[in-house]
Amino acid sequence: MAKIAQVIVDVPTMQTNRPYSYLIPDSLTDAVQPGMRVAVPFGQGHREVGGMVVAVNDADTLDETFSGKLKPLGALLDLAPVLNEELLALSDWMAQHTFAFRISTIQTMLPAALKTKSHKFLVADASIDDPQLASLFDDQRRLDFTAASLTDEQTDALAKLQQRQIIHAEYQVADRARVKTATWVKSSLSTTEIETARKDVRPNAIKQLRVLTRLMDLQEARPLQDVLADERLTRADFTAAAKKGWAELSEREVYRDPYADHQIAKTAPLTLQPDQQSAVNAITDAIDAHDPKTFLLQGVTGSGKTEVYLQSIAAALAQHKTALMLVPEIALTPQMVNRVKGRFGHQVAVLHSGLSAGEKYDEWRRIERHEAAVVVGARSAAFAPLTNIGLIVMDEEHETSYKQEDNPRYHARDVLLWRAQRHHAPVVLGSATPSLESRARAERHVYTRLALPHRINQQPLPPVKIIDMREQLKAHTESNFSTPLLEALKVRLERHEQSVLMLNRRGFSSFVMCRDCGFVLKCPNCDISLVLHMDSHTMKCHYCGHEEPIPRICPNCHSKRISYYGSGTEKVAAELNSLLPDARIIRMDVDTTRRKGMHEKLLNSFGQHKADILLGTQMIAKGLDYPDVTLVGVLNADTALGLPDFRSSERTFQLLTQVSGRAGRADKPGEVLIQTFNPDHYAIQLAKTQDYERFFRVEMGIRHMGNYPPYFFTALITASDKDEGVAAKKMFELSDQLKQTLSPDTIILGPTPRPIARIKNRYYYQIVLKYKREPKLQSVLDGILDDAQREQRNGLQVAIDMEPQSFI
Ligand code: ADP
Ligand code: ZN
Ligand code: ZN
Repeated sequence: MAKIAQVIVDVPTMQTNRPYSYLIPDSLTDAVQPGMRVAVPFGQGHREVGGMVVAVNDADTLDETFSGKLKPLGALLDLAPVLNEELLALSDWMAQHTFAFRISTIQTMLPAALKTKSHKFLVADASIDDPQLASLFDDQRRLDFTAASLTDEQTDALAKLQQRQIIHAEYQVADRARVKTATWVKSSLSTTEIETARKDVRPNAIKQLRVLTRLMDLQEARPLQDVLADERLTRADFTAAAKKGWAELSEREVYRDPYADHQIAKTAPLTLQPDQQSAVNAITDAIDAHDPKTFLLQGVTGSGKTEVYLQSIAAALAQHKTALMLVPEIALTPQMVNRVKGRFGHQVAVLHSGLSAGEKYDEWRRIERHEAAVVVGARSAAFAPLTNIGLIVMDEEHETSYKQEDNPRYHARDVLLWRAQRHHAPVVLGSATPSLESRARAERHVYTRLALPHRINQQPLPPVKIIDMREQLKAHTESNFSTPLLEALKVRLERHEQSVLMLNRRGFSSFVMCRDCGFVLKCPNCDISLVLHMDSHTMKCHYCGHEEPIPRICPNCHSKRISYYGSGTEKVAAELNSLLPDARIIRMDVDTTRRKGMHEKLLNSFGQHKADILLGTQMIAKGLDYPDVTLVGVLNADTALGLPDFRSSERTFQLLTQVSGRAGRADKPGEVLIQTFNPDHYAIQLAKTQDYERFFRVEMGIRHMGNYPPYFFTALITASDKDEGVAAKKMFELSDQLKQTLSPDTIILGPTPRPIARIKNRYYYQIVLKYKREPKLQSVLDGILDDAQREQRNGLQVAIDMEPQSFI
């Protein structure tokens, strides 16, 4: 009986969450399964597009005439499903929950290597008269248009050929997944046959004799590379041997292992402290009971949370289950990976953005084939194709990077909680400074709180000193370093101890301003200042990539007194160099860590004490555990406090607490110095005492008064258009519509222009919804998006972000 495949198609102009039906050809009836990628004809031109099979039905459930009209499926791109039933269901839930297109939630789950891209080819139907154009086409009279680098003239000439119907376009779905193989070699001769063959070879055919000798112990196949490593033989010698029928060469699949050159020592479980032990017991009980409860593991920095994760993971493995552990991207330092790999060895797969597409694809396949039972990764590892999950861990659960800012706007925590329910597995959310949302849930016993209030080494938390930078300003010095901080750095240099300096870059940049007229250089496409980049000697826009030379005179008043403000890490490093010429400094920021592996390299050399001072942005605040670090300095604690975001105090408190935790982790006592212009701000004062519980109560009071989360849920609706009036008009319409349909308790803020009102020449208007219970919300917002999709043709775009983590 004929079968029908339900396919979500990858069509960017007409994305829809509704699957399209395709007839499965008889030859593929048994092969097609949900979770496989296919190529299907779509639209009027029947061009081939990529898609994902989400269901397979019998044709008899459909009207006979209807099925007769169905187009047949094109190519099948997979021989086995790449998304299992669970992940398909998750993609459906996510599309609903985040107001995203189903195809984008599906694409998000796949490793880059499996993302389908359609490729455009030009095919010549008749001979092309222009020899220069003809030379672009290969023997098959085909031109790979997507890959070709053509001049505008060539593109134009080709378009004219197409109009004259001399060539036509074809679309083909390209599969970028490449399996890496290695050559293996095996003797085809038995040892006695080799003896005979040796006698037949001329005595001066030295290479052949060598090959035959080598084949003696290749009765079992071995990688050719290993064989060549210890012989004066080449690949060509073995190819020749294969031709003679002496040896057999075969291609076998290999994994690209990003950690192949890392020596990771095996570690044994540590004897737990009593607090750690009770946490592990509670988690293990939940694993054994298949209880999908959520724990909030709240432990001060250095309290041994990682050991709790590791021993809980071991408990899941002991039950023959798998474990998934998420850490923030920037915390995926070699230290964290080594700790997990050191405990669980080759059972661990690692997924993060530092890996190449090929490496990620291989790690992904090891998970899928049940060869890796423990997955450590950043946000997108939430979709790791693990089956039989026994435990899920999310370290630093308060980190904002767990929320994806682009479509689909999902929070990894929500994905993990969904999967936990499905697998009947507990979740551990760990942090020294939990998000207010999670801590409040623990308060209401929705989550179970587990506390680690003490540091492992019995060391007290390092004392924190606040330095009032307003004094510095009064003294008219423009230095980034206060006297106490400079003195403390000198003491560390004398004692051969290390220091970590953090420059808070959030809400802060080095911009160029004219000291005579106050002119600030802005991006021509976006309402935002351009940022100075010393490495490329240009001004760059961080939103659209616009780049221009550093101005020498003010474009406004022609004054020469135009110079840069603010302190980039480069400028601070230069100042530090002149203040402490003997200090060895490592600078770590987006510029110095852009190249693959640099992050790790810099941290390793700091770990080996090849530098005295590590100067960096927020990326150094987490996860570092170096015994020689006894001083942590924060150069500017408060740049984020002025941001128009109700979470700015929370972020500041979290960051200061995290970075303070880097000091005095071993036997040497640590010290923290925080420079600030707002010494009396409660977030700074409470970071001084590192009193999370106090901070939680104070901040909850403020959120309660302002009707903010966790007391209210939030949703952000934005409309954007090249024409400011169109975006504004749409938002006022939506605002009226929402006022009429939503309950009176829901607070509607706006419409207002977004704080950065223009990006890439598009104007943004927004509405913020604050609600407690809003049963109609899903259907109302679905309706808004449906309408907007129809209007999208005119350039107007509407987006919905549930629980946005950034309001700028
Ligand atoms: P956190 O993640 O809470 O900041 P870590 O897990 O990094 O803390 O632990 C801090 C240090 O204490 C690490 O060097 C770790 O190896 C050590 N440690 C953790 N638990 C124990 C234990 N039970 N006994 C001895 N050392 C421990
Ligand atoms: Zn000027
Ligand atoms: Zn820009």
